[in-house]
Amino acid sequence: MNACKHLHGGGCGDACCLKIENLTVKIGGETILDNINLHMHCGQLVALIGPNGAGKSTLIRAILGQREYEGSITFQTGGKKEKLRIGYVPQSPAFDRADPVSVLDLFTCCIFKRPAFLPPTKQMRAKVTECLTRVHGESLIDKRVGTLSGGELQRVLLALALEPLPNMLILDEPLSGVDVEGMELLMDMLDEIRSKYDLSILMTTHDFSTLEAHVDQVVLLQSSILRKGSPLDVLNSDEFARAFHMTGGGA
Ligand code: ADP
Ligand code: MG
Repeated sequence: MNACKHLHGGGCGDACCLKIENLTVKIGGETILDNINLHMHCGQLVALIGPNGAGKSTLIRAILGQREYEGSITFQTGGKKEKLRIGYVPQSPAFDRADPVSVLDLFTCCIFKRPAFLPPTKQMRAKVTECLTRVHGESLIDKRVGTLSGGELQRVLLALALEPLPNMLILDEPLSGVDVEGMELLMDMLDEIRSKYDLSILMTTHDFSTLEAHVDQVVLLQSSILRKGSPLDVLNSDEFARAFHMTGGGA
């Protein structure tokens, strides 16, 4: 798989790296995440998997700064601590099919903070086209958001999350509601984006079929990290079988 181009000798060295150290999240006295330690390098695609209620979204919220935690989350590049810029693609929001808002309107509201009823300028249209080109989605610019397929919507949300370019991209269940063809397209796109812009990508997923071909590291979470490693290592592990109740009951 694509190893981080900045990695030296297996350690972090001067590589750009997100370090999650001894992270614990408690909600109402209950420990939801217990002592999580995880390093992610630029250019790496990491899949966070685990059964429902395992704490995947809670970990994402902690990284986004939306949830209090004990421990530390730091980002460094070239040996120096830096402010982490995150592009976030939330779990597919629902859009009304009848809603007249176009992809162009959505972008002008989000990027230029301009009300959708004001017609976009030529420069705005050019900027939005540039953003959509990053996900090969230029042809979607005048489509109504409510009529996009699951895969097209994910690509549009991905293009939004990439403006301005972040250090890290986080996607919550990007493959749910996307057909098999759309899934391959999206995973190819993530592959392209992480190597082109050298950013790290963390995604949660319940679709394990795409992991081996695209992902560098799989993290199996169930309150604590049960196992992390290559897709094959994690998917063939006893921890994976137990977490997803796939054990046959034998010794
Ligand atoms: P996942 O995304 O893996 O399905 P979550 O992170 O959403 O899991 O939830 C992990 C656990 O934390 C669940 O038991 C859930 O009930 C609990 N939890 C999450 N958010 C809250 C909250 N705001 N209040 C109380 N419990 C919560
Ligand atoms: Mg979740």
